[in-house]
Amino acid sequence: MRKKIVAGNWKMNLSLAEGKTLIEDVVSRLPLLAEHQQVIFCPPFIHLGNMASILDDGADQRVSLGAQNCHPHPSGAYTGEISIPMLKEVGVNYVIVGHSERRQYFNESNEFLKLKVDALIASDVQVIFCCGESLDIREANTQNEFVAKQLQESLFHLTPDQLKNNVIIAYEPIWAIGTGVTASTEQAQEMHAYIRNLLSSQYSNDVAQSISILYGGSCNPTNAVELFSCEDVDGGLIGGAALKAETFLPIIFAMD
Ligand code: PEP
Repeated sequence: MRKKIVAGNWKMNLSLAEGKTLIEDVVSRLPLLAEHQQVIFCPPFIHLGNMASILDDGADQRVSLGAQNCHPHPSGAYTGEISIPMLKEVGVNYVIVGHSERRQYFNESNEFLKLKVDALIASDVQVIFCCGESLDIREANTQNEFVAKQLQESLFHLTPDQLKNNVIIAYEPIWAIGTGVTASTEQAQEMHAYIRNLLSSQYSNDVAQSISILYGGSCNPTNAVELFSCEDVDGGLIGGAALKAETFLPIIFAMD
């Protein structure tokens, strides 16, 4: 059975005190998660150590810590960057790679993201790889080719085992991120099925069926159940709604 995952991307939000309260609140009200279910908190870098100690206290493997970014080099003269060994040291098990905001505001290319993917896999850290098209591309109906290129150039050099064991894909249409406009269940399912078929033709049906594909883009307590019920949607990468227990918890409850 594929892993069902709800990951909260806090972006550059929440003070240390607010973050602690949120994690404590969510964790204390979590249902008993099944073996195939995973909840991931992705706070800003500076909060990771503190959040790790809260999660350690609970010691539930199904609740994990993720980072929003990393640098591909293990150390060196990269002012302002954070390396994968540093992230591992504070207890990070997952890293978001290629979020559209990093691609847009920090000019991260498919080639650069490939370096991060390789470095994370070499360090045995799970990759949450984001892909997704802009509104222009959707309106031109070229979203499939666009997403295929993102995957081709950053992921498809991996071996089947590397992909299967280390990569989660998050489909996040840019026009739905933080806009309140959600992809319809048909649009989400269509793209997720397209990605899964791509994995099948590039690798094998076994690989395609093992990889979790998350949806991201204005997912909220009202639409999560419907989105997560799509055959190829295995959970969500959540932005705004991950910032409050009242909205994040119902999304976690929507995982089947
Ligand atoms: C995101 O940025 O990954 C995201 C999905 O944001 P939101 O849920 O706020 O649209």
